[in-house]
Amino acid sequence: MCAPLVVGNWKMHGSLAANRALLGALVAGVQGVESAVCVPFPYLAQAAERLKGTAIAWGAQNVSEHAQGAYTGEVSAAMLTEFGCRYVLVGHSERRQIYGETDAVAAAKFAAAQGAGLRPIFCIGETLAERDAGRTEEVVARQLDAVLGRCKFGDAVLAYEPVWAIGTGRTASPEQVQAVHGFLRKRMSAATRILYGGSVKPDNAAAIFALPDVDGGLIGGAALVAKDFIAICGMAQRKG
Ligand code: PEP
Repeated sequence: MCAPLVVGNWKMHGSLAANRALLGALVAGVQGVESAVCVPFPYLAQAAERLKGTAIAWGAQNVSEHAQGAYTGEVSAAMLTEFGCRYVLVGHSERRQIYGETDAVAAAKFAAAQGAGLRPIFCIGETLAERDAGRTEEVVARQLDAVLGRCKFGDAVLAYEPVWAIGTGRTASPEQVQAVHGFLRKRMSAATRILYGGSVKPDNAAAIFALPDVDGGLIGGAALVAKDFIAICGMAQRKG
């Protein structure tokens, strides 16, 4: 079993003032479990300054697959390391669905992040139509193979996030989560953390974290509410 990890994905939320309050509350309240927050690019300096020397790591939500050059609007992995990022989300379903990121692009971003010394949090998951068609394992295997065919997974983190459970309030049942995590576990080294993400809240986190092949969570909406994120971290800590 891996030590649990809880990661907050702030998505495109926050302001300097709101972040100050949230980060302060997290520093005071998150204890005894590895945790991180993935913040919007403009707030990386703020996160670095506030979280430096604390137990909470920080990271970004996206990275360019390119090292440098004429890529207007993009941010390279090397730039993220200058802000002390440990983690970066790669292949989040919102990137895949809204911005058309393919498996190949997600794999190239993974390689760029890893090459710069970052730990990618590689997100995979099926849509509701794919689940209903009985294609969940095929889809997550294909998404994962795009990376494994190109790089070693190393100390990267895998996050299973069924698309239909993200931001919908609809969580996968513990049986559904364990079935996919068990499938993924067989394909990964025992040391790879496999997080679950998708409407994790204080009232369902304990049941999900208790599952044998779940090593923590990737938390969206509840990561913006200090008391909820702290409570979820507390439930992961009990697993550790
Ligand atoms: C996410 O964005 O990765 C996520 C899991 O969001 P939520 O917890 O809001 O479903």
